[in-house]
Amino acid sequence: MIKKVIIILNDDEFYDDAQLLARSFFARASVERVKEERKESGFVPQKTVEISSDGETVYLRLDGLVPSVGSMSLTRGQIHDIFKRAMYKDISASTGITLPWGFLTGVKPAKRITEILKKNPNIDEETARRKFEAAYMVRPDKSRLAYEVAKNEEKILTALHKERDFSIYLGIPFCPSVCSYCSFGSLPVNSVSEADIESYIDALCYEIKEVARMTRDKYSGLGAVYIGGGTPITLGEPHLERVLDTFISEFGVENALEFTVEAGRPDAFTKAKLKLLKEKGVTRISVNPQSMNEATLKRIGRNHTTEDVRDAFKLARDLGFDNINTDIILALPGEGPKEVAETAEEIRALAPESLTVHSLAIKRAAAMDNKSLPADLTAEDMEKMTAETVRLADELEMQPYYMYRQQNMAGNLENVGYAKEGRECLYNIVIMEEVQDIIALGCGASSKFIFDDGRIERAVNVKSLKDYIERTDEMIERKRRLL
Ligand code: SF4
Repeated sequence: MIKKVIIILNDDEFYDDAQLLARSFFARASVERVKEERKESGFVPQKTVEISSDGETVYLRLDGLVPSVGSMSLTRGQIHDIFKRAMYKDISASTGITLPWGFLTGVKPAKRITEILKKNPNIDEETARRKFEAAYMVRPDKSRLAYEVAKNEEKILTALHKERDFSIYLGIPFCPSVCSYCSFGSLPVNSVSEADIESYIDALCYEIKEVARMTRDKYSGLGAVYIGGGTPITLGEPHLERVLDTFISEFGVENALEFTVEAGRPDAFTKAKLKLLKEKGVTRISVNPQSMNEATLKRIGRNHTTEDVRDAFKLARDLGFDNINTDIILALPGEGPKEVAETAEEIRALAPESLTVHSLAIKRAAAMDNKSLPADLTAEDMEKMTAETVRLADELEMQPYYMYRQQNMAGNLENVGYAKEGRECLYNIVIMEEVQDIIALGCGASSKFIFDDGRIERAVNVKSLKDYIERTDEMIERKRRLL
C-alpha cells in the first residue's frame, strides 16, 4: 500500500492542485513536497510517476506538466485544468486507478454543470452531461448525479426571494458526547459547567437581540432558519425555551419559509424538548443515526443505541413532525457494504422525508486521523455502499438535491442530500449556492454576505466558548460592518 507521496514541484502556482489530486488518488498516504529532486537511497525518479521498489512511496515529478500557455488567452481556471488533466492522466496510466469525479477537485461539482447549462441554454441532458464528462474526465454515473442536483437546485431556488431575503443560522456548541470524526469543535455537555452554559445562553440571546435590530430594515423577509451546532437539544428545557423564544420573537421566525432544528443525536431526545420544538413552530428536524450498527456507534463515540434512534423517530412522529431528515455516513471504521446494507434496511423502515449521505472525511480537527479510514475497504466496496444508498433514496422516492465534496473523503466520493419532492432543506441550498445573506449567530458561526458586484464577505464568530462569551460585542460588530 502507498504510505507516502513525494511531490517534486518547483512551481508554487500548481502545488495546491497537485496535492489535492495526489490525496484523491492516495487517500491514506502522507503527502510531502520537495522543490528539488531528492536522492533517497540513490533513487532519482525519472518519469512523472514512479513507485518505489517496496511499493510504499510514490514520486510525482510534476514540473514537466506545468502548461506553457504563451499567448493563448486562457483563464486561470482553464490553465489549472490543463495541469490537473495531465497529472490525472499520468497517475491513472501508471497505477490503473481512475477517480469517480476525474480531476475535479472543487467542492461543488454541480456548479460546473450549471455553468455548462448557462452557456448552452438549449442543450439537452445527454449533451450537457457528455460535455461535463469530457471536460473533467468524470464518470457517467457522477455526471448524472451532478445533472440531477443542478436541475433540482434550480427548481428549488425559484421558490426563494433570493436577493431580498436572508437566512439565519444559530449554533449551540454542545453535544451529549463527542463523535470521533467530529471537526466542529463541539463540547461534551458534561465537561461544561452550568455557569458557563448560562453565560453562553446570555451571550447568545444578547447577540440575537443586537443583530436582529441591525437587520430589521435591511431585508424584506426571512428565507431559511437553521439551528444546528452541536446538538441544540442538548440544552436543558429552560435554556432551550429561552433561546427559542428570544430568537423567534426578535427575528419573526414564524414568517420564515423553513425552520429546521438539527435535533440530531437520539440520546438528546426527550418528549418535553420535542414538544417544545413543535409548539415553537419548528417545521423540520433531523434524527441522525450515522449507522444502525451497535458496534459502530460505540466505536465512534456516540452514546446512543439503534433502539434510541427508533424511539426518537417514533417520538417525533407521534408529536406530528412530518419532515424528518436522517444522516448516515459511509466508510465508518469497521463498516463495509454489509453494515451499510443493514443500516439502509433500518432507514427504509423509518421512512424519513430526506436523507443525507456523507462519505467519511477526515479533518485535522477530528480525533480520528486518515489512518482510521478502513484499510481493507476497496474502491469496489465504496461503490457498493454508494449504490446501496442510491437504491434506498430511490425506494423512498427521493431525488438528489444538493451535493458537496470535501478533501480526504473516503473513496473520493461526495456528500449528497436526497429528499422527497417539496421536503428539501432550503438552508442547504442557500449555503451551497450563496444566493442570499446568511446571518450566523453563536460560537464558531460564520455569516456570509453577498454583494451586488458578486463579492462574498464573511464575518466569523470565534470558536472558543470563553472567547465568544467575553467578546460578543466584537462578534456583533463584525456583522455590523458588513450589513
Ligand atoms: S453529533 Fe455532530 S456536532 Fe456533535 S460531536 Fe457528533 S459530529 Fe460533532
